[in-house]
Amino acid sequence: MKLYLDPGHGGRDPGATGNGLQEKNIALDIALRIRTILANDYNNVEVTMSRTTDRFVSLSARTNEANAWGADYFLSIHCNAFNGSARGYEDFIHSSLSDTSQTARYQATIHSEVLKQNNLPDRGRKKANFHVLRETVMSALLTENGFIDNNTDAALMREASWRQAVAQGHVNGLEAAFGLERKESSGTLYRVIAGSFKEKGNAEKRVENLQSNGIDAFVSSTQISGELWYRVQAGAFRNRQNAQQRVSEIKEAGIEDVFIIEQNIAATAVSDYMILGPSRLSPEQMDRYARSIHPDAPLLGSYYLRFGEYYGIRGDVAFAQALHETDYFRFTGVVQPDQNNYAGIGATGPDNPGASFYTPRDGVLAHLQHLFAYASSEPLPEKYPLVDPRFDLVQRGSAPTWVALNGKWAVPGDRYGQLILALYERMVEASINELGALLQELQ
Ligand SMILES: [Zn+2]
Repeated sequence: MKLYLDPGHGGRDPGATGNGLQEKNIALDIALRIRTILANDYNNVEVTMSRTTDRFVSLSARTNEANAWGADYFLSIHCNAFNGSARGYEDFIHSSLSDTSQTARYQATIHSEVLKQNNLPDRGRKKANFHVLRETVMSALLTENGFIDNNTDAALMREASWRQAVAQGHVNGLEAAFGLERKESSGTLYRVIAGSFKEKGNAEKRVENLQSNGIDAFVSSTQISGELWYRVQAGAFRNRQNAQQRVSEIKEAGIEDVFIIEQNIAATAVSDYMILGPSRLSPEQMDRYARSIHPDAPLLGSYYLRFGEYYGIRGDVAFAQALHETDYFRFTGVVQPDQNNYAGIGATGPDNPGASFYTPRDGVLAHLQHLFAYASSEPLPEKYPLVDPRFDLVQRGSAPTWVALNGKWAVPGDRYGQLILALYERMVEASINELGALLQELQ
């Protein structure tokens, strides 16, 4: 399938503006994210873009190029503007087309998938006589992703996580409409590391510097010879050339200590989520999610974040594992609340409820230590005493991913890791929705 991807406007044509934002930049960012997801996760799709940088391209140049290339689909990405109060998502096909046309059916599929992700009101599927819809010989769709002059929509546009979700929604729609095949994603992952620091504050400054240059980055901690380092990760790619391109962008921004780490991975896109890695959710987001389901849940988010960061483990996913193990801290299984055993360590059945810990803090610490035993073959870092009574029984490094815990942490547990990751995805979704609700309140 040949996709012609068209970020609207560019160069001297900023498109709509508002709230300090320009449509051309938002559209380009979303389109580049769509291309990255398609290149990383799918086999049978080729992408050509009308522009990949901030440059002016005329409308006829765009449609001529798509027609000459023989694209199967033309997808144009835009943002709207009106009177400051209008907001939401809508998309357009050409006004001459019937509601039963193939193009209208593609529109319906993509429309519903984008709306599942973007947290915007639905303004409907529409038709218009726009140049890019009229002059393309293939099916074409133009999406209007929020109103840049509306405070609520603009606040979402500023969030990289929102732009990523919008891109993912478009990809999900394309997958459903065109039967795109997901890659069996074993192979190599190329992580771009833009600096490695002993001081966390220095790593955070580097992230700010990168973000001010339009490059997404986050801090992850890692153990090297027993010492804790803060790495700034600025992208992870399946394709080495894409990683090298990111390295050049970072060097152009004046940062020289940038390098690529290769990592072998052996699972599918969702299930290759590593146990080692950064948390994305704050302690408050974790706790609020637990209490949205069980109002008396203990507040453990800050322990999961702190010990997770120390051991270089995704503390928020470990928190999801605890929710899964304890039935949202309702302890409906054999483990009792006063055991402070949130991970079912050593619990094998009614006659054996497993380990007990003196305090909730120790219970979380033991959980993270037990995960470290599975995820890493390094010695346990020494800041905290070993409280996990089963650490030495683990085959060290035998489960680098959550899904690899299947049949190990839980027996038979053939969907154990998948259930944890599904629960984690619901937590992330809830916190994105929460952000949307908060922004509405502030308006
Ligand atoms: Zn536009």
